[in-house]
Amino acid sequence: IIRFDNVVKRFGDHTVLDELNFDIRKGEKVTIIGPSGSGKSTVLRILMTLEGIEGGVVHVGGEPLWHEHGPVGLVPASQAHLHRMRGQLGMVFQQFNLFPHMTVLRNITEAPVKVLGLGKAEARDRAEELLELVGLSDHAQKYPHQLSGGQQQRVGIARALAMRPNILLFDEPTSALDPELVGEVLNVIGQLSEEHDLTMLLVTHEMRFAREISDRILFFDQGRIVEEGSPAQLFTSPQRERTREFLGSEL
Ligand code: ATP
Ligand code: MG
Repeated sequence: IIRFDNVVKRFGDHTVLDELNFDIRKGEKVTIIGPSGSGKSTVLRILMTLEGIEGGVVHVGGEPLWHEHGPVGLVPASQAHLHRMRGQLGMVFQQFNLFPHMTVLRNITEAPVKVLGLGKAEARDRAEELLELVGLSDHAQKYPHQLSGGQQQRVGIARALAMRPNILLFDEPTSALDPELVGEVLNVIGQLSEEHDLTMLLVTHEMRFAREISDRILFFDQGRIVEEGSPAQLFTSPQRERTREFLGSEL
């Protein structure tokens, strides 16, 4: 459902992704781990079309994300194409990125109404279901600043799901949280990971959690995949010295 073929991403003369190749099957739960600056967030940002690329091809749902060569590398064929491709993906950010002046409910219904053209009542019903899923039914009328970080992040997850994506991306969803709030967010993500149709690509430093929920782990270093495998393979018997070194430093 996602494929990177020889993807090159540069910022100026700094090559962040260096002919990167990987693919993710529908329904797979994949975690990217790796040191700071290795390109993990860049991969997610490219998928969300928040960044362009300088070479290679990114496929989502069997179609290339970027078509033509343009001044900033490859550009999408049309706004309609971009829109449709983006609709397949939802993203949960490290810093929640909720709208501060909107209630929890409105944060969740805003995009489905504006972008998907859902009726208000339908969007609200769906939002209420999602709030129940993330354990926040009683907080629909609150504003983000009235919630804990863990609660805000659970709203962030509900908001991403409200767009009915096939693919959910998480960029260090718990790293801005106080330690005692991490568990409640991981529980929600863990619950989602049991949905067989939902494809998940997660960047995290929570190694124990990654081990529990992932079908596969990709270890990134300097814009390349150094090693990949099942959690059991990668965590128990890493083949590369660089992987051992990284895992050693994370424990
Ligand atoms: P972290 O674990 O710290 O979040 P990461 O693996 O997510 O790291 P990226 O955010 O993907 O790393 O960044 C990869 C490299 O690209 C870094 O060296 C970073 O400085 C650089 N970079 C990212 N965004 C930009 C930008 N907008 N302009 C210039 N350089 C950038
Ligand atoms: Mg990052």
